[in-house]
Amino acid sequence: MLYAKVAIPAPTHAAFSYAVPEDCASEVRAGARVVVSFRRRLTVGFVLDTMDEAPSHIDANKIKPIESVLGDAVFSPRMCEWLSWLASYYCAPIGEVCRSALPKRLTQLKPPKTTRPSVPRELEHRGEQQDFVLTGDQQNALKLINDELDTKKPRPVLLYGVTGSGKTEVYLRLFERVVGEGKQAILLVPEIGLTPQLTARVIERFGEKVALMHSQLTDAQRHHQWERIRAGEANVVVGTRSGLFAPLLNLGAIVIDEEHDSSYKQDEGVLYHARDAAVMRGQIENAIVVMGSATPSIESFANVQGDKYRCCHLSERTGGGVLPDVHVIDMRHEVARQKAGDSEKKRHEHASLSRELVDAIEATMSRGEQAMIFLNRRGFANFLICESCGHSFVCPNCDISLSYHRHPEKLLCHYCDYTVRPPTKCPSCEGIDIVPMGRGTERIEMELQELFPKVRIARLDRDTVAKATKRTSIFKQMHDGTIDILVGTQMIAKGHDFPNVTLVGIVSADVALHMPDFRAAERVFQLTTQVSGRAGRTSHGAKVMLQTFQPEHTSFEHARVHDFESFFANERVHREKLGYPPYVRLANVRMSATDSAKVDRQAHSIADELKNLCARMKLDGSVRLLGPAPAPMEKVRNRYRWQLLIKAPDARAMSAFLKQAHPAIRAFERQGLRIAIDVDPINLL
Ligand code: ADP
Ligand code: ZN
Repeated sequence: MLYAKVAIPAPTHAAFSYAVPEDCASEVRAGARVVVSFRRRLTVGFVLDTMDEAPSHIDANKIKPIESVLGDAVFSPRMCEWLSWLASYYCAPIGEVCRSALPKRLTQLKPPKTTRPSVPRELEHRGEQQDFVLTGDQQNALKLINDELDTKKPRPVLLYGVTGSGKTEVYLRLFERVVGEGKQAILLVPEIGLTPQLTARVIERFGEKVALMHSQLTDAQRHHQWERIRAGEANVVVGTRSGLFAPLLNLGAIVIDEEHDSSYKQDEGVLYHARDAAVMRGQIENAIVVMGSATPSIESFANVQGDKYRCCHLSERTGGGVLPDVHVIDMRHEVARQKAGDSEKKRHEHASLSRELVDAIEATMSRGEQAMIFLNRRGFANFLICESCGHSFVCPNCDISLSYHRHPEKLLCHYCDYTVRPPTKCPSCEGIDIVPMGRGTERIEMELQELFPKVRIARLDRDTVAKATKRTSIFKQMHDGTIDILVGTQMIAKGHDFPNVTLVGIVSADVALHMPDFRAAERVFQLTTQVSGRAGRTSHGAKVMLQTFQPEHTSFEHARVHDFESFFANERVHREKLGYPPYVRLANVRMSATDSAKVDRQAHSIADELKNLCARMKLDGSVRLLGPAPAPMEKVRNRYRWQLLIKAPDARAMSAFLKQAHPAIRAFERQGLRIAIDVDPINLL
């Protein structure tokens, strides 16, 4: 008798054994979709493996049979191996992992009828044909990549190249080789809508053979793309992190553009990191993995130093373009100057833009060039405060300040979207001097418009571009030169190439610096460098002006001279000393419930349980527990959040510990306590 190990999409971790009836024995193999009865209901499951005998711990007579097999296998055997790795490394139920790898309708017993879906918009935009002689840097990079490919067991490669150094062309040439050899490739990008130029260039090169995978597709579209990939009609897949699940049968290369981007980490469901998962998929399928960035993650660069990844460096911009000069503006002096200047005026806060920045904008406008002004915070003001009694307005669901928005006027929670009309009277003292404090992009836009009434200003943030089409039209206007100044959040920091932008202003570079997160300095360095990279990609003399209250901070010092390696050297010492990743491994047990006393109590019980486990496993302090403690954002959407950090010296020790700890933790998953085990966490708030 034949038996099958079947993964079932349910919050249960193990796979289940079913008997394989004679008549479908030839179709039941790893990766097949089957209908089975589970908890008295029929459901779709995925075969992971088959075996000749029933597992010894189960009574063979009690094993239920597979009801039927649905079509061809959806996962290749190597894909099954990779999915199993994902489940075990990220402590995720294997059935959930399988489910998240597929279009929804392939996981349903009664899928909706398919009518032919529309072609995703992005596939219709073909970039211009470009022909150039590779730069020396590009040639060297390709040689290194090609040499790795020749080894048949290629090691991952970090393509560390400054903004505008021509990384895309290296990706495309790699894909040409891979496709030429009859294999396929995946290109991952942080967000499709933010990188239209990149997608267009891939389509220019590979035309009909490109498939698209991202979360904005309808399920019918996703299914259609999936089928094209599966049928071999597409051999280059462009996608966001979920594109990594593309069902390619002969994968040759995976490229992860902007590999440092935190959107590669999934924040709900299966908490995988697409970069790390790509490295594993590459290893299983003998495909090369290339990670590109101007500001590599500390993790990846440490892997280069540890000889796990190879590295090539593109140090110059193509076409002789130079990196912009970065001026750091000390806002302490600016504020002192402003205060001295208008002491008679009642001023709540200093003007957002320093005189130096305003002068630079003026000069840029008079030359007929464009500027981008960046602030990573939307809305008008960060909060409202009553000047008489100090009352401030907080979200009732989240315990954080409500942001003040002007058009339309409202107080808004950026976490749960709770909205109220701004009060005219203070609810606690009835005073009427309620003033906005702090600044967001909306306020910057207003201040700019007051200073430069004739200039055409547009704003790009989540409030102005709810729809992707709006975003595309703003980018188009920037290209056509019908916008003079673009104000925005990190949405303007990535990927775009606007040749006529010769000035980038960073209004407050300090916003991210004071987050309770060991990666704060890294984020600030990355963001500063990425935003700076938007300036003057082709022309000379472009400028970045960075306003800060802490000009001496190392992130700015190194970003000013575009020096990632010094930043890394500095950060490394710091993290090694304090015991932070990548020099140790972290896992974060996140717990939440609507009852604050209950989370508190359960969090302590879980911690006690894990402490005992450490003692039983005789770990002698090599695995350490930090906490439990309330999360930095203690209340979000009416749930109280706690966390317990696990620190282990390396990945192997972490996996060994989690293997034991995981079932112990899951045992608490009842009575309204929500638990997520976040392995290699990125977001610690
Ligand atoms: P990166 O991704 O490294 O920031 P891109 O790949 O976007 O840079 O390249 C920047 C610009 O340089 C693009 O406009 C591209 O067309 C151009 N480019 C790429 N390679 C070359 C080359 N060898 N010679 C001239 N221009 C090039
Ligand atoms: Zn809220």
